[in-house]
Amino acid sequence: DAVIHWYKTDLRLRDNKSLHLASEKAKSKGVPLICLYLISPQDFRAHCTAAVRVDFMLRNLKLLKENFAESDIPLYVETIEKRRNLPGRLIELCKEWGAKHVYCNIEYEVDELRREAQLTRKCLNAGISFNAVHDTCIVDPGELTTAAGGALSVYSPWHRKWCKYINDHPDALKEFPAASRNPVTARQKFQKLFEQAIPDAPEDKSLTAEEHERFSQLWPVGGDEAMNRLTKFISERIKKYHTTRNLPAGDGTSILSPHLAVGALASRTCVREALEASPVKKLTDDRQQGCMMWIGEVAWRDFYRHVLCNWPFVCMNKCFKPEYTNIEWEYNQDHFKAWVEGKTGFPIVDAAMRQVKHMAYMHNRCRMVVASFLAKDLMLDWRMGERFFMEHLIDGDFASNSGGWGFSASCGVDPQPYFRIFNPLLQSEKFDEQGDYIRKWVPELRDVKGKAIHDPYNRGAEAIAKKNGYPKPIVDHKMARERCLERYKRGIGRS
Ligand code: FAD
Repeated sequence: DAVIHWYKTDLRLRDNKSLHLASEKAKSKGVPLICLYLISPQDFRAHCTAAVRVDFMLRNLKLLKENFAESDIPLYVETIEKRRNLPGRLIELCKEWGAKHVYCNIEYEVDELRREAQLTRKCLNAGISFNAVHDTCIVDPGELTTAAGGALSVYSPWHRKWCKYINDHPDALKEFPAASRNPVTARQKFQKLFEQAIPDAPEDKSLTAEEHERFSQLWPVGGDEAMNRLTKFISERIKKYHTTRNLPAGDGTSILSPHLAVGALASRTCVREALEASPVKKLTDDRQQGCMMWIGEVAWRDFYRHVLCNWPFVCMNKCFKPEYTNIEWEYNQDHFKAWVEGKTGFPIVDAAMRQVKHMAYMHNRCRMVVASFLAKDLMLDWRMGERFFMEHLIDGDFASNSGGWGFSASCGVDPQPYFRIFNPLLQSEKFDEQGDYIRKWVPELRDVKGKAIHDPYNRGAEAIAKKNGYPKPIVDHKMARERCLERYKRGIGRS
């Protein structure tokens, strides 16, 4: 007999609900715990998962396997080429190992939920108990509603309820204890599982040797790495978060998103640790602005997951607001290429796109700027940008990405009207005042002095820009703005 914890996007030892429950079950039955991860290349393709994110997951798994082995717990990883075979293979493995109980944390995306529903039935027929539990959100989807019991689509009222819920239910932040050691006999019984090497990434999701090296340097893996980063952020920077978080040149934010996205760190752990270190313990107590604002950002992650559960059609390339379906988009490949390559002639946009190319990460302010630029200045279909982000970000996360693009293209849950259009030059002047971020990522403009950095061709740095081959702006913002307003108005009018 054995109990299985099936890993998905919860690649951690610490504070993991399903892992804890599986371990408790195994202990109560006196049987070993086996951890399992199933690589599904078709899912990676269907969900546009970035190769860098796959690499980050595999590196995390390798470390997890080593950590688990110290407690005689095997972690077995297998690639399932056809995703429709995944449920059947999971049941085969249960039979092979004599496992009667499977535990996992729920993933809320549509394909994943369907698979879990299917597995519940299939396991039942095979005499196996299948337990999918809520873990990834601090407040479970479905808990927060309007007074009439309806779903909430606006962040502020949702956030007030989220804070109240946590204040009223301190257990929501309680840590789940780590898994217990396996009986020593587990090692002989499952020797083969301990010896198995983590499979390579699917060919179409592999990095080059140079990329693998660069990303391994930039993004070390593991629960300890994530915890150290969190602890350092809380002790050194969280207090100033409300004043520094929008400045892409600094290190005002935590840069924990890659760890949160693969589940090497739980958002519950983040909020608990931040509150424990804070002199005020109740959420919404604004005497600790930095801390509360950061927790409010972590809450956005929960918020977009709740949105996904309430309106699953956002998983299907659809606008949250149906009346935004008829907007006429452009599909200009030259413009898209310029955006992707960071050659639009708008330095802040180009710096951000080059940051993503090098690091597979982009600062939040810049994500908003480049997304608004794509959807509103270039009028390109926002889904092209959403997809590009998923294909290139190490922290690519469906709910947060779709939420962020919906926000920026005004077709998501955000109640702000579509005529909020970012002016890339003003954004640049405000949030990269000295131009440090631009100079770091756009070497062609490194020698440009003063304010000309934000708009070299119109502010007297034409000679340097030209000499270094920096492109002229590919659109005129004022005209683009007019076109955007007209297109949105017409599109919404048509529905
Ligand atoms: P911090 O400011 O330190 O915030 C802490 C954590 O809170 C983050 O790690 C993240 O998990 C969460 N968080 C912060 N802001 C948001 C937000 N606006 N929405 C949801 N969660 C948030 N985040 C992703 O994790 N994956 C994505 O694929 C993603 N795509 C985005 C696309 C667009 C167009 C936009 C505007 C935002 C997107 N975000 C995404 C949200 C945000 O940009 C990143 O979470 C943040 O930049 C990560 O940096 P950090 O860890 O230093 O954040």
